[in-house]
Amino acid sequence: MAQAHKLDCETAAADCRFIIQSENETEAIELAKAHMNEVHGKGYTDDELRSEHLQVV
Ligand SMILES: [Zn+2]
Repeated sequence: MAQAHKLDCETAAADCRFIIQSENETEAIELAKAHMNEVHGKGYTDDELRSEHLQVV
């Protein structure tokens, strides 16, 4: 079974239930970056998202 890259925003922002899950890491990072920027006004780099927020499930 393919691995999926998952971001559970609740770990970054306690009141947010946003979850991204994609088999494509690049896509997951793009979606996560857009969400963090638009909803939380936070600019994360790809590396920060990959190392601190994305889980492989
Ligand atoms: Zn969020």
